[in-house]
Amino acid sequence: MERTLAIIKPDGVKRGLIGELISRLEREGLIIVALKMIWMTKEQAKGFYKVHAGKPFYESVTDFMCSGPCVVMVLEAKRAINTYRKLMGATDYKEAAEGTLRRDYATDIEKNVVHGSDSPQSAAFEVAYFFNELEILKR
Ligand code: GDP
Repeated sequence: MERTLAIIKPDGVKRGLIGELISRLEREGLIIVALKMIWMTKEQAKGFYKVHAGKPFYESVTDFMCSGPCVVMVLEAKRAINTYRKLMGATDYKEAAEGTLRRDYATDIEKNVVHGSDSPQSAAFEVAYFFNELEILKR
C-alpha cells in the first residue's frame, strides 16, 4: 500500500466542492486514512511549497494557499500517488485531460482546486508536514 497527500485548496472549499471532490476520489478506489480542515499561515504555506521557493509564482501561490481553509487528507491505495495524480489532471486545467478534477473544476493555473503529491519522496514529506502517525488510520 502507498500513501499520498491530497489537498482540497481554498478555492475548492469556498466553492462548496468538498463533497463532490471526495466522492470522485473515493470512486477511484482511494481510501481516506486521515482528514482534517486547516487554515494555513503564510509561513506554513511557504514551508509546504518550499520546493518552489524562488519561482515567479511562489509568493502568489503561497498567498492563495493561506487565503482560506483547506481540507488535507492522506489517501491510501496500491498506486495511490499515480492514481490520484491521474485523477487530478495537469497543473494547467486547460491542458488537463477530459474527466479529470482540474479539467472539471479549476478556473485558473493557480486556483486549480486540488493538490496531490508527485513522488514517494514528496508524499513522505507532505504527509508528515500535516499529520503525525497517531492521526493516520492503520488498516
Ligand atoms: P502541481 O504538482 O500540479 O500542483 O504543480 P506544481 O508543483 O508545478 O505547482 C504547485 C502549484 O503552484 C500549482 O498547483 C498551482 O496552484 C501553482 N502554479 C504552478 N504553476 C504556476 C504558474 O505558472 N503560475 C501561477 N500563478 N501558479 C502556478
